[in-house]
Amino acid sequence: MSNGQTSLVEEVRDRFGPKAAITDPADVEPWLTDWRGRFHGKAAAILSPSSTDEVSQIVKLAGERCVPLVPQGGNTSMVGGATPPADGSALILSLRRMNRLRSISSEHNVAIAEAGMILADLHDQATAVGRRFPLTLGARGSCTIGGLVSTNAGGTQVLRFGTMRSLVAGLEAVLPDGSIHSGLSGLKKDNRGYNLDQLLIGAEGTLGIVTAAALKLVPAVYARSVGWAGVRDPKAALALLRDFEAKTDRIEGFELVPGDSLQLVLNHIPGTRPPLEGAHPWNVLIEATSATANSDPVELLQSLLAGAIEAKLVEDAMVASSEAQAEALWRIRDSISEAERAEGPSTAHDISVAVADMPGFLLEAKREVERAFPGTTASAFGHLGDGNLHFHVRAGSRAAPGWNESEGHEIERFIDDLVTRAGGSISAEHGIGQMKRGELERLAAPGDLAALRAIKHALDPMGLMNPEKLVG
Ligand SMILES: Cc1cc2nc3c(=O)[nH]c(=O)nc-3n(C[C@H](O)[C@H](O)[C@H](O)COP(=O)(O)OP(=O)(O)OC[C@H]3O[C@@H](n4cnc5c(N)ncnc54)[C@H](O)[C@@H]3O)c2cc1C
Repeated sequence: MSNGQTSLVEEVRDRFGPKAAITDPADVEPWLTDWRGRFHGKAAAILSPSSTDEVSQIVKLAGERCVPLVPQGGNTSMVGGATPPADGSALILSLRRMNRLRSISSEHNVAIAEAGMILADLHDQATAVGRRFPLTLGARGSCTIGGLVSTNAGGTQVLRFGTMRSLVAGLEAVLPDGSIHSGLSGLKKDNRGYNLDQLLIGAEGTLGIVTAAALKLVPAVYARSVGWAGVRDPKAALALLRDFEAKTDRIEGFELVPGDSLQLVLNHIPGTRPPLEGAHPWNVLIEATSATANSDPVELLQSLLAGAIEAKLVEDAMVASSEAQAEALWRIRDSISEAERAEGPSTAHDISVAVADMPGFLLEAKREVERAFPGTTASAFGHLGDGNLHFHVRAGSRAAPGWNESEGHEIERFIDDLVTRAGGSISAEHGIGQMKRGELERLAAPGDLAALRAIKHALDPMGLMNPEKLVG
């Protein structure tokens, strides 16, 4: 530990007690590696405040001692965003003890949750008052509100409700100088210049520490229906979505699943079964919900799919007849990455292009990748309606020790170049973290990069907020 770190840890312990500074290596160790196990950092301590005031004091104390801080929630970042630098120069600032629900109101349709609250806990609390926080994703049992805000997380219901950017009504945060930004009043209209809340959303902890968020709630789900359709190609899948959107506003999940990904799940994930009798080159999982007893989403989905079969948009389809069957369909979708891991090495790319361009882009990109790297298989699945797919490349016959670090990187650059040429994004929902930092620097427009850096340096001139992430 450097002298500055030692003095900071001692001061934090003196002021806030032993729980606020963890130094036992056995307790620190689990938080030094990212969720995917690709980045390993070093930190002598985890500082763990229990209130906004404590965060503010810690940030000031760290500033006085020039000690960088790495904010951390559930550590489920897909891009190494919450993993400290490998040289041990920073301490982790965990928000996990700040996990209270400060208020929830069905009248205001707003919940005010502290940064360390786990997403699944917020879901339960919203259900208890007859409301719902509509953002959900695979890491909901571990990820926190502060992490979701800071990565502008998306998930499976973005189609209808948007990303965190549209679900945050206001934020409370500690800025790099230790001052507190209080934006929790949830104003619908507020034009006092630059929007600090929106600047902090997606900032990945590089502009300050989110301590609490006012989150928009929607009516609870009364009933849901989940269906599966086989389609001939991604263009037909998008045409199906547009057809449904013209007829109803009840569709909130629309996930593309290629035939080969489905087969991998069936091969590797015990207990999974094919949803349809025959195999189809492409599939979509569709979820429709209703907030009232007046409309039945099962009937709705059945009739929409029957019409689509007649119009030859769909080759075959089914609608789950029970909640267990609905869950089984979602399990297939959620198990694709796990099934791929069981198959062998692969690289993952979280990309987006304009929604209408995605069907053409993904087929063209698949052809180009497989031509440039013969023996690999490129496969894209996910949120077609958001123009955001998880474009994965399996090593196949090219698999070799260290493949991810060598050819995997080459493939990443190849795909990022294709996406950039198509006017898309090299990171649709996971952020930049440390994993995509070099690619952002390589591919962002110079003016954009200069603006990002200018904002960072203006707010955090000493570079103490989550160093080596996003922009330097
Ligand atoms: C199985 C799985 C499925 C996922 N699915 C999706 C998905 O569908 N869509 C999607 O968008 N993402 C998805 N993710 C990634 C997603 O980004 C994270 O789950 C979540 O947003 C991060 O929350 P966290 O609390 O774990 O944050 P962490 O991983 O701890 O941190 C993430 C980033 O936010 C910063 N940070 C954390 N807390 C704060 C705070 N209070 N103030 C300031 N900065 C902070 C960290 O420094 C880091 O840069 C998935 C992850 C997993 C493991």
